[in-house]
Amino acid sequence: MRFKRKGEFVTVEGKNNKTFLTYSNGYVFVGKNLTLKCLLDPKDKWMQYALKQKIKFCRIIKKEVKGKNRFYAQLILEGNPYQKYELGKENIGLDIGPSTIAIVGESIAELKEFCEEVVLIDKDKRRINRKMDRQRRANNPSNYQNNGTVKKGKKKWVYSNRYLHTRSKHRELERRIKEVRKQLHGRDTNQILQRSSSIQTEKLSYKAFQKMFGKSIARKAPGMFLNSLKRKVKSRGGDFREFPTYSTKLSQTCHCGMIKKKPLKERWHKCGCGVVAQRDLYSAFLARYVTKSNRVDIKNAKMDWIQFSFVLDKCVSNLERRKPERKLISTFGI
Ligand SMILES: [Zn+2]
Repeated sequence: MRFKRKGEFVTVEGKNNKTFLTYSNGYVFVGKNLTLKCLLDPKDKWMQYALKQKIKFCRIIKKEVKGKNRFYAQLILEGNPYQKYELGKENIGLDIGPSTIAIVGESIAELKEFCEEVVLIDKDKRRINRKMDRQRRANNPSNYQNNGTVKKGKKKWVYSNRYLHTRSKHRELERRIKEVRKQLHGRDTNQILQRSSSIQTEKLSYKAFQKMFGKSIARKAPGMFLNSLKRKVKSRGGDFREFPTYSTKLSQTCHCGMIKKKPLKERWHKCGCGVVAQRDLYSAFLARYVTKSNRVDIKNAKMDWIQFSFVLDKCVSNLERRKPERKLISTFGI
């Protein structure tokens, strides 16, 4: 048995769609006495498709939206997900950096900010967090020791209305981070899948990532993004392969065979052999040529380079032409 404090209810689910918690025809039934009507969008094709599938079990989730409780019914279904589009045909190399995502295929290369909005909301959230802490201290001075730490033992906490207001704001931001991240991940995943059925990318070392770039990057959940991309492409019969960073050293390699370490702030790959390319795009290009034995297939990379140098250049010149909305674009090195 698990105990939840008042107000902490998050989710309940049934074991099947036959007893206690069930869904049928737009209604959720809880026990014998509670019937909940679901709000459904009749125009939503995805939902219409989903509701025709067999229901395995059903779940109710509480989310706090703008300070108010909202309850969602989640149905766990049997069958295949709704498919809006076919997988593309290209072989794509991906490179995910702390703030960028580079996608390189035969016809187009893209370089975008990866989930930047999430970091902005996270900054707000942390500011609110500090405010909460100040309010807690102001309302409960006797709960703290002289050195600022919380006293041990049983305490009574006073929560002012202002504090509760700040706390609900904090929860709202937390929810928005999750929501915005999900949206952005979904958008990028769909864009990639519409172009390709075969994806190669470096395995992200979550720990190294966090160590190098801090918590705000972790909020973008790049690992979660790659996992969902992998799941989706594989469920449709495509290929997804991650290779270890350590053995391939993509960021240091040139397709002429040269291996040279470059500092992180160096955003361009410039090699003595004459190859010049934006760093993230170049890594994504090389990612396409990593073989099963985790080596770069230099011969083929060399052969394709002329074609790809045009694709990469075009991407860069498009970015240059675009009016920078925010200063973030500087991380591209453009
Ligand atoms: Zn070179």
